[in-house]
Amino acid sequence: MSSKAAMVEYEGIGTDPNLHADNPVDKILRQDRMPHIWCPGCGIGTTVNCFARALERMKIDLDKVAVVSGIGCTGRVAGYLKLDSFHTTHGRAIPFATGLKLANPDLKVVVYSGDGDLTAIGGNHFIHAARRNIDITVILVNNFTYGMTGGQYAPTTPEGAIQTTMPYGMYEYEFNIPHLAAAAGAVYVARWTVYNVAHLTRAMVEAMNKKGFSVVEVLAPCPTLFLRKNRLGEGIDEVKRFKERYVRKDGMDTSEVAITPDGPIYVGKFVDIEREEYIDRMNRILMRRLGDRYKPYGVKHG
Ligand code: SF4
Repeated sequence: MSSKAAMVEYEGIGTDPNLHADNPVDKILRQDRMPHIWCPGCGIGTTVNCFARALERMKIDLDKVAVVSGIGCTGRVAGYLKLDSFHTTHGRAIPFATGLKLANPDLKVVVYSGDGDLTAIGGNHFIHAARRNIDITVILVNNFTYGMTGGQYAPTTPEGAIQTTMPYGMYEYEFNIPHLAAAAGAVYVARWTVYNVAHLTRAMVEAMNKKGFSVVEVLAPCPTLFLRKNRLGEGIDEVKRFKERYVRKDGMDTSEVAITPDGPIYVGKFVDIEREEYIDRMNRILMRRLGDRYKPYGVKHG
């Protein structure tokens, strides 16, 4: 198409009062809760944009989607979504989501929270939900710090990074989240950054369509409490580093995808396997023992 033709088309859209572009994000945002609390340059909003587009792409009945968050900056996502959403206590998003899924197996249940909430105080819940292979999706926004509570170090803070509770540089080993999830039993594990928005959106769709415990780790900048303390510039500078450092390797052994201070950031779909889901397994084993006396749970009976 010539640039002149493109201009005419553009002008046509701009002047036709019957044409307007629907922003898919609007449909799932509680506009009455705006403005949001996130700092300029924070990466969490980008993940919400991708999540909205993922839901739209799935053409899913939004009344069948529930989002559960814990505490922290990412935990605020639940409060901004015009879905059935629950903002629970610190570290308890996964047990809440597990209960929700068990009470209503027809729901698509998504846990949306941060690295501190899900892998520190909620770490035990994370590994046991993966072990059980309960059918929920975890969107884990990893910005390498506790943002909301003041920049304390997290189990994801990289080696040498300065945090309020690690003023001379992080010396503990950090979690490799994809490896943790895969080792504990997750059936779908992917990592992307907020630079890779198209891939991230697709990964969210795949994870939500996958039966069993699925995890999407998203690397995102926290300019206020991680980048500033480490003199790493603004949010956009971190996104540029993601762009320079990311290396896509689908199927890569998760033991090799740990994030190092200066090495490549491996992204992609690392795990996509089949494993019997929690409720299906419960039904199979109880039926084996109890026979006709057991009515399979979560199955509509005539
Ligand atoms: Fe985002 Fe960090 Fe601000 Fe929290 S403190 S909203 S994570 S930039």
